Amino acid sequence: MPLDPYDYLRIQIQMDFQCQRCGHCCQVADPIDIYPKDVRRLASFFNISLEEVIKEYTIPHPSEPDLRALKDAAPCRFYDAEQKGCRIYKARPMVCRCSPFLSPGQIGLQGVEIYEDCPASEKSYTRIKRDLDILLAPNAKTQRKLEKALAKMMQIE
Ligand code: SF4
Ligand code: SF4
Repeated sequence: MPLDPYDYLRIQIQMDFQCQRCGHCCQVADPIDIYPKDVRRLASFFNISLEEVIKEYTIPHPSEPDLRALKDAAPCRFYDAEQKGCRIYKARPMVCRCSPFLSPGQIGLQGVEIYEDCPASEKSYTRIKRDLDILLAPNAKTQRKLEKALAKMMQIE
């Protein structure tokens, strides 16, 4: 997948991102896309079959016919309000791993979007902003490292 300088920048920001665990996104995100890889991760996490995951934890996606969506979102059924965290953190879906700076729809966008509802997103951007010129021109080695990181985050198949 050809990436542009802002894609590389968003990958860097996402890698640097430090969630403040305010819980906002886990309580309002809907739909939460579920890709085939997410189904496999959940099956392994709960030690159940793929069919059981699909039946128990997903619904048809409201706008993407090829995808499923997490059943019981907004608030997410896996959000632990007491701990302010995710109860399936290791097996959380790809869109949660890529939030807030990366998602399949953002690749190719020119610029970086700051999310007003996410208190950590502006801080992440501020941390990285002073090195913007350097970060927008990564050398070949850094590009490979970032592409690898993106592939790891976005495993969808
Ligand atoms: S799966 Fe976890 S990280 Fe994703 S929305 Fe639900 S609680 Fe949040
Ligand atoms: S809105 Fe931002 S800071 Fe709050 S839980 Fe979500 S990612 Fe973390």
